[in-house]
Amino acid sequence: MSEIRNVIIIGSGPAGYTSAVYAARASLSPLVFEGSVTAGGALMQTTEVENYPGFRDGIMGPALMDEMRAQAERFGAELVADDVTEVELSGDIKTVKTAEGTFQARSVILAMGSAHRKLNLPNEDALSGRGVSYCATCDGFFFRNQEIAVIGGGDSAVEEATFLSRFASKVYLVHRRGELRASKAMQERAFADPKIEMVWNSEVASINGTESLESITLRSTTGDGATRELPATGLFVAIGHDPRSELVKGQIDLDADGYVLVKSPSTHTNVTGVFGAGDLVDTHYMQAITAAGSGCAAALDAERYIAMLD
Ligand code: FAD
Repeated sequence: MSEIRNVIIIGSGPAGYTSAVYAARASLSPLVFEGSVTAGGALMQTTEVENYPGFRDGIMGPALMDEMRAQAERFGAELVADDVTEVELSGDIKTVKTAEGTFQARSVILAMGSAHRKLNLPNEDALSGRGVSYCATCDGFFFRNQEIAVIGGGDSAVEEATFLSRFASKVYLVHRRGELRASKAMQERAFADPKIEMVWNSEVASINGTESLESITLRSTTGDGATRELPATGLFVAIGHDPRSELVKGQIDLDADGYVLVKSPSTHTNVTGVFGAGDLVDTHYMQAITAAGSGCAAALDAERYIAMLD
């Protein structure tokens, strides 16, 4: 067993690295577990990020994450590209396990993010950032005067379609069923929008294009096997997110969808000394800057908690 740390941070997206910068600058010597495959978080999967403040010409997602990582390292954060496999969060000393060993700390910041659900179709990953997107707020601006499709039928899909109609010349809202799950008010707004065309009882059969998205093929879900090609150059997949909270299930209060619950506006969870930040907590904004902001808040909360113990 190693020394008892002040703080262990689990996660390496904007939330994890920002909390590492703040905790390191507060002389807490944080130990950060970045994850083995997906270190750097969700922005490692994207191309241009145009809405992160401070980069007037935009910055590539992986370059932004490299900068955050280097900034955390510069102030003395210890970064380890391993997955946390088990935690024991109750009690004054928390235990965190990886395949390489067991680590202890007085506080833990949870920043494991959430995974957007994919369609799981060939070409989806290859064209992600090249027409295929999972975030209208992030990418809508790139699709001015283009025809795009939004996939989904819940609140977020309908909200994204309405938002995207500001930029696009046409938005196809494609849903597997013959009616939406979204709230009535949201539906009425979408139905009244002349740029939105509902495509009922349809699912995506293929994503077409080589360098960038050229079209999508839809298949009817009514059993007649009919297909149809949509000339969409943008495809927004809005079928939900899965927070990566499996690790703490049963130990920390989660909401019905598995998001870590915090005592808003703080980042305190229901377990003393354990803090939650970023998309693991956030069902509303899901942006790099909001994740970074809550990572900052989690480090400040941890710092105050540790100061109280001393
Ligand atoms: P994440 O970035 O998801 O990072 C969490 C990381 O924690 C994981 O990737 C993994 O490395 C690590 N982790 C998870 N479990 C463990 C474990 N058990 N042990 C160790 N480590 C673990 N936002 C914008 O503001 N602008 C954009 O232009 C933009 N574009 C986007 C494009 C794409 C394709 C995607 C998917 C998202 C985009 N977003 C954008 C959203 C933004 O990326 C997220 O809101 C943000 O990354 C959330 O940060 P986070 O730190 O909470 O989590």
